[in-house]
Amino acid sequence: MTLRLSLDALPDSIYAAELQKDPPSTRFPGALEGQFVRSTLRNSRSIVRFACTLTLLLIAVHGAQLLIAHRPLPLNGVIGPAVGAFSLVLAWLAWSRRYERWYLPVAWVLVPLRNMLIVAQALHAAAAGAAEALMVIPLLIIGPFYFLGLPFRAGLFAATLAVASELVVAHFLSLPSEVATGVAGFLLTTLVTCAVAARLIERHTRRAFLEGQLIGELAQQDVLTWTKNRRMFDESLAQLWRQAATDGRPLSIFLIDIDYFKAFNDRYGHQAGDEALRQAAQAIQGCARRPLDLVARYGGEEFGAILYDTGRMGAQETAEAMRRAVQTLGIEHDGSRCGDVLTISVGVAVVEPTAWRNPYGALQLADEALYQAKSKGRNRVEMMDDVAHRLLVTGEFSKDIIAHLKRDAQAR
Ligand code: GH3
Ligand code: MG
Ligand code: MG
Repeated sequence: MTLRLSLDALPDSIYAAELQKDPPSTRFPGALEGQFVRSTLRNSRSIVRFACTLTLLLIAVHGAQLLIAHRPLPLNGVIGPAVGAFSLVLAWLAWSRRYERWYLPVAWVLVPLRNMLIVAQALHAAAAGAAEALMVIPLLIIGPFYFLGLPFRAGLFAATLAVASELVVAHFLSLPSEVATGVAGFLLTTLVTCAVAARLIERHTRRAFLEGQLIGELAQQDVLTWTKNRRMFDESLAQLWRQAATDGRPLSIFLIDIDYFKAFNDRYGHQAGDEALRQAAQAIQGCARRPLDLVARYGGEEFGAILYDTGRMGAQETAEAMRRAVQTLGIEHDGSRCGDVLTISVGVAVVEPTAWRNPYGALQLADEALYQAKSKGRNRVEMMDDVAHRLLVTGEFSKDIIAHLKRDAQAR
């Protein structure tokens, strides 16, 4: 599948920006590269487990054969145990819970080292007459590229070291020059072929990663305002509610509604309405930029925001900042009865979640606060009052209480 996307349509997406690059990046900027490497590592875990375990078994069988045959271990018994130990570490990491954290940095070092040792051992055996030992060397080029979950650069490094050490060791062991050059030529050809293919595969993997991430991002975004969508708002509310309950932190829930927006559409047209919505959304979003803050399009010309670990004062300041930010945009609104520019009303509920209480009750309180802001004249912020807050803490959200709050609001 090839995605054809316009950068203008997705201005805030790093995935879209990368997908537009021609030629594509061989290394993504900043944290995106780490995200890609971790995702690739996760996806290749089965093959890494298979390759590492098989290598370990083969080395164990080979070592056992040498012991049973009472043949002295090659190179004074140093290389064999070292290769075995490195392989054991890699196989253990491939199966352990530390895989995503430690496998790659360890493999960056151990795979090239192991390659060099195996090359030395194979050439040593070949010099002693066991020419079939050389057959293992091409595997040291193919493995790092395709079977060990290494990024292209790490694979190239390990495979190149294998070829280079073949040239050096062959020289020191004084192998017949036609054998040494023949083997080196064959290995170089294998290296170049594998490197070109691995590079093309990685280019495809990078693109597939970006497309997957972009699809995930699009599933969370509202396409008009480029804030989060309603589904993300509902999911985040449930999640942040649980976290706040566990941590004993307050949560502020905002419902934000554009004032007299129907009149705006009627006066300036639907397209101008869409553009105003976009600008208002960005202004609101600009006031809630901490990592856990969330602003979402709740529906139509309404937005929702959740501020984690924010008490009454902080919530009121942020809500006022949002209200001012939209007003300061200065979007002309002749049809408004509360001013001559586009404005918003904000209802805020500040709550202390507990595991046994339902977050949707708090949402009802924010809705009630918004209703109060509208009925008190719009272009204003209303917080849930103390009575309502006390009722919230008791956990009761019966119809009677909501009716009481409505009566209370109307009376003011
Ligand atoms: P209030 O101050 O009481 O909120 O009045 P209002 O006119 O904003 O409220 P009402 O619910 O009567 O109208 C909301 C309007 O928002 C109606 C609808 O046409 C408009 N609207 C909702 N979604 C969109 C959208 O995506 N684009 C545009 N242009 N308008 C939208
Ligand atoms: Mg409205
Ligand atoms: Mg509305």
